Amino acid sequence: MNIANLSLKLKTENVRTLIVKKRRVIPFFDYTEVFSSTEEELVDVFKNVLRRGAFIQQSDLLEFEENLANFLGVKYAFGVANCTDGMILAMRAIGIQPGDEVIFPSHTFVASAASIHFTGGTPVPVECGPDHLIDPTVIENAITSKTKAILPVQLNGRTCDMEAIQKIADKHGLKIIEDSAQALGSKFKNRSAGSFGDAAAFSFYPAKTLGCFGDGGAVVTNDDEIAKNIFMLRDHGRDDYGEIVGWGLNSRLDNLQAAILNFKFNHYKQAIDYRRKIARLYHNYLNGLSQLILPPGPDADLDHFDIYQNYEIEANRRDELREYLDQAGVKTILQWGGNAVHQFEKLGLSCNLPVTEKMMARSFLLPINTMITDDDVKYICEKIREFYEY
Ligand SMILES: *Cc1c(COP(=O)(O)O)cnc(C)c1O
Repeated sequence: MNIANLSLKLKTENVRTLIVKKRRVIPFFDYTEVFSSTEEELVDVFKNVLRRGAFIQQSDLLEFEENLANFLGVKYAFGVANCTDGMILAMRAIGIQPGDEVIFPSHTFVASAASIHFTGGTPVPVECGPDHLIDPTVIENAITSKTKAILPVQLNGRTCDMEAIQKIADKHGLKIIEDSAQALGSKFKNRSAGSFGDAAAFSFYPAKTLGCFGDGGAVVTNDDEIAKNIFMLRDHGRDDYGEIVGWGLNSRLDNLQAAILNFKFNHYKQAIDYRRKIARLYHNYLNGLSQLILPPGPDADLDHFDIYQNYEIEANRRDELREYLDQAGVKTILQWGGNAVHQFEKLGLSCNLPVTEKMMARSFLLPINTMITDDDVKYICEKIREFYEY
């Protein structure tokens, strides 16, 4: 290769890398940002905790539990290993027994149903309503003599109509366990998700609205007896004095993760505001497109305060639209990989839920997080309009 050819080759390569670089990419969620956005402060948190040798159930955990209980307006909060464990512990603490049926919305993460299964109960899937949350009007039809509890899922950062659900629970003598994994700070009629049921569980998985650096979760309750049970169940059956008072598991939230969560909690209200602002922008730019069904807007209904863990839309020609957005650098995902829980045949919950199935075939998630900019949202919405216009 002579010099002229070489320089030509370099030039074309430069041009190519420039084009690649210039192409806009909006990731669905950038996991590296979780650390890099506040790296120095976080390193200080690590140093502080690790130099104290404070690994398991130390002051940072107690502080976090207090922060969480205050934030939600509940009596008790307990850090646990993850939300799935949290729901299992909550149901065991409440007294769900083998053979008991628990009603849950099929449009949820498989963990909601798995937690019922591993408590020994039978998960009973039901339909969701137009806002993609459990449809309170179908719950009563699913109640049998074996039904012991309802497990509403506070999905996408929105809280269910808990008045309607509580009414049904009261009428039939059922317990309520809230899967609040996606709803920390979300409210219905000014009360926080997690504060309605007999107990509720939260997740601090890194991509959740309040994420730690690995797995983490919490269980909350207002009930003294349930609280005592959860406290014991998560730590080898030990009570406050270290006495073994029953069979327990090991499902604790690491003290280091609790310290990280304490740090992040300082900025959590701003994080919610930011997500609501992004949701408002999506709503403003996409409202009126007849091919889409948007989630309820942040100012649509004063009974609901949504925190937008996800922005889940329904779309005509969904798969083509996602492909078009992908080509434009916009990364979207299908929640749960595109299947509701009853659609996973191997789990043995197959049944007919036409509303949920139709919704699952049409819905997907647009990026929403604290790193996305106003300009990104504008670009995404322009691409969506472009797709339907041509
Ligand atoms: C994330 C999630 C869970 C599971 O939380 P983990 O902390 O990963 O166990 C359960 N339910 C819903 C709705 C979720 O989004």
